[in-house]
Amino acid sequence: MKRNYSLKSLNSFGLDVVASYFFEIKSVDAISKIIVDPVFKEKQYLILGGGCNTLFQNDFYNGLVLYVNNKGIEIIEETNTQCVVRVQAGEDWPSFVDKMVALGLFGVENLTGIPGKVGAAPVQNIGAYGAELKDVFLRAFAVNLSDGTTREFTNAACCFSYRNSIFKNELKGKYLIYAIDFLLKKNAPLNLSYSAIRAYLNENQITDPSLKMLSEIISSIRTSKIPDPKTIGNAGSFFKNPVVDRKQFLQIQAEFPDVSFFEEARGNVKIAAAWLIEKTGWKGYCEGDAGVYDKHVLVLVNHGKAKGNEIIALAQKIQESVQKKFGLKIEPEVNIV
Ligand SMILES: Cc1cc2nc3c(=O)[nH]c(=O)nc-3n(C[C@H](O)[C@H](O)[C@H](O)COP(=O)(O)OP(=O)(O)OC[C@H]3O[C@@H](n4cnc5c(N)ncnc54)[C@H](O)[C@@H]3O)c2cc1C
Repeated sequence: MKRNYSLKSLNSFGLDVVASYFFEIKSVDAISKIIVDPVFKEKQYLILGGGCNTLFQNDFYNGLVLYVNNKGIEIIEETNTQCVVRVQAGEDWPSFVDKMVALGLFGVENLTGIPGKVGAAPVQNIGAYGAELKDVFLRAFAVNLSDGTTREFTNAACCFSYRNSIFKNELKGKYLIYAIDFLLKKNAPLNLSYSAIRAYLNENQITDPSLKMLSEIISSIRTSKIPDPKTIGNAGSFFKNPVVDRKQFLQIQAEFPDVSFFEEARGNVKIAAAWLIEKTGWKGYCEGDAGVYDKHVLVLVNHGKAKGNEIIALAQKIQESVQKKFGLKIEPEVNIV
């Protein structure tokens, strides 16, 4: 157990935050030890992976940070066509994807380069470039932090939806995920459906990319759009795209014919939050060191010495202006602590 521990390198906004207590989890045994500790019993606690989707409101977190850092990647089942890969929660997600691509295993390539740890991936059902975690997720193993019992969560039990799962709702903070099984294929058609991938392939006259090439293409598109948190603090997309029913969508489209949207299941429509924010004039806007990234308005950034509450204040102003102009509520994707 460490006291007054700096989380500056453990939150991708690069905020200068200190936690009063910090405990690194390197094994499942460590979880059973910490939950009987008086500090755990008395203080609030926070499960932390890489801190790439966490925004601290204050400079001081008066509680115990449980830093998930257990390691291990293992193929536990294999047939001629597929593998089940067990990954410990503290593994770095981008490195795990790179390893699977190098092994020629299909399924996670569109999720190349999403920063953070494997254990956090189901929490918001990470997604990018036309794929979501739920497409390859088999099961998670987790410890109930109130009594130390372990539980296996099947895909269905996680209630995955767009940037959402049971771990963001009724089980928020209650279970610590310590390992995940993924079902990956030895061969599968690549998912090239996303418009930015198609545009890249057309521009570069690539007709039949390999698995490795697709992963590299996605990595290159990502770096052209989202700043590296090591250079400019950020947490990727700050807001989720609002999903509306068709009636509401048609009303918005009648007033704003160039609205950017994606069709969803059951006739619903997802409106691009980036379009809404750009149309309300926030591109490149700054208030002190808190700002809206000029190459991608969905990304709020810390240009240096911004405080968490300054980024939150800016986010609230953006929400209010979008609500006023379009009558739509945009919700943060980022976890505010
Ligand atoms: C530059 C950049 C680009 C990004 N791009 C994308 C993207 O394309 N798609 C996307 O979906 N996300 C994206 N994100 C968001 C982020 O990468 C993901 O949400 C990622 O899964 C966060 O992992 P983490 O370990 O850093 O999570 P943290 O921020 O540490 O934690 C996130 C939440 O999960 C909980 N949690 C963490 N670990 C565990 C665990 N083991 N058990 C239970 N709960 C846990 C935490 O309590 C917290 O509520 C991006 C972020 C950045 C900085």
